[in-house]
Amino acid sequence: MKLYNTASKKLETFKPISDGIVKVYTCGPTVYSSPHIGNFASYIYWDLLVRTLIANGYKVNRVMNMTDVGHLVSDGDDGEDKLEKGARKENKTVWEVADYYINEFMDSFHALNLLEPEKICRATDYVEEVKAAVDAMTANGFTYETSDGIYFDVAKFPDYAKFAGLDLDKLKAGARVEFSDEKHGAADFAVWKFIKPGEKHAMRWDYLGRPGYPGWHIECSTIIDAELGEPIDIHTGGIDHIPVHHTNEIAQTYAISGKPLANYWLHCNFINIDGERIAKSTGNIYTLADLAERGFAPLDYKLWVLQGHYQGDRNFTFGGLDAAKNRRLNWRNRIALELQKPQKTNREFFKKVLEALDNNLNSAEAFAIIDNTAEISLDDWRDIDSLFGLGLIDSVQDISKEDKALISEREKARAAKDWAKSDDIRHELEIKGITIKDTPDGSIWQYLK
Ligand code: AMP
Ligand code: ZN
Repeated sequence: MKLYNTASKKLETFKPISDGIVKVYTCGPTVYSSPHIGNFASYIYWDLLVRTLIANGYKVNRVMNMTDVGHLVSDGDDGEDKLEKGARKENKTVWEVADYYINEFMDSFHALNLLEPEKICRATDYVEEVKAAVDAMTANGFTYETSDGIYFDVAKFPDYAKFAGLDLDKLKAGARVEFSDEKHGAADFAVWKFIKPGEKHAMRWDYLGRPGYPGWHIECSTIIDAELGEPIDIHTGGIDHIPVHHTNEIAQTYAISGKPLANYWLHCNFINIDGERIAKSTGNIYTLADLAERGFAPLDYKLWVLQGHYQGDRNFTFGGLDAAKNRRLNWRNRIALELQKPQKTNREFFKKVLEALDNNLNSAEAFAIIDNTAEISLDDWRDIDSLFGLGLIDSVQDISKEDKALISEREKARAAKDWAKSDDIRHELEIKGITIKDTPDGSIWQYLK
């Protein structure tokens, strides 16, 4: 299996640390509002990664976090906590907001038929571990204290700029206006924030004799250490995480344990609309509920996402989504056709599909192979379904005995040239969403839509 590794900027042959088992970590959502379809694209790509690993015979142990504290509105160290802001806006407690959006996220996760990670961890369940991690970084000389919190001193980690190819001097020049006097360097970041007297912050923990809460990046280093042990095999996220969030995770883990965090780093590109990234700040967002209102199922969207490459520049349009919906219907009808025929399994075909995915998750090529193969057996469709999680097989059920009887009745009517009766039966079946195709081998049924 070959994967593009952001750390080496090369396509590399994948080799797990331990034979047969792969440790994967996925940076999860910040649970303060409904995710948009761009967010879900990233989880769809990582679902494909996990399913491809499984198809290659690996056992996957994946952990994903839920950020329910510490992610500030600015994505930096200033501004309000996104959860606190969400709670104020909705007139709920932060805990209610987190619970609500975690449930909503998981409902969508299941509707998209995404494999659940082996463990899902809420940041607030790891605060004691975070404190121990900050203690370790401090003992190892990587932090300093300001009036505002405990900061990571990036100058202490010589490789800080390496992962993202950062130019720290430029960063400093760019940040001069906003970066506070107390910070030693522009890229330094909070691993723990203090709550000042009078400051509103419902989520608070005592540490170093005063109330505070964890910084955003520290939860991932901490959860990986607690649940998987570094280094892990594969770490995933969006490309926006490369220069700050993942760079900081690597620095923290080095400061805590002296170890690298992950051997392979996979990053997906953004989904755009009219060339602009789908983002709350841009306002060009659609949710899965918006798509449902226009008649598209979550799995239509999943298929649309999988038609492109995770590193590709993707432009979302409803026309494109409609084409994906038609492709899904076409595949369902191909499965329906196989249900009505004798079966021949073709392992060579499935090998080719898997080979496409083993080449850096090239699902677009795998889909072209499926479209260009005239006959695919039910067994092979079952394997395709496990590989992409498109729920195809489950969505195709053999029709009822009554409907089958109607089809043979119609064939008899046709043989007797009773066209009126034949048309009536066709109509009766169409009301049930079934259409009949007359082929040289007899009549077959297909889904109407
Ligand atoms: P967040 O909840 O903001 O931390 O985002 C969750 C995930 O969605 C992150 O991995 C982001 O990189 C990813 N993401 C955000 N916007 C987009 C987009 N327009 N297209 C694809 N992925 C995105
Ligand atoms: Zn993370």
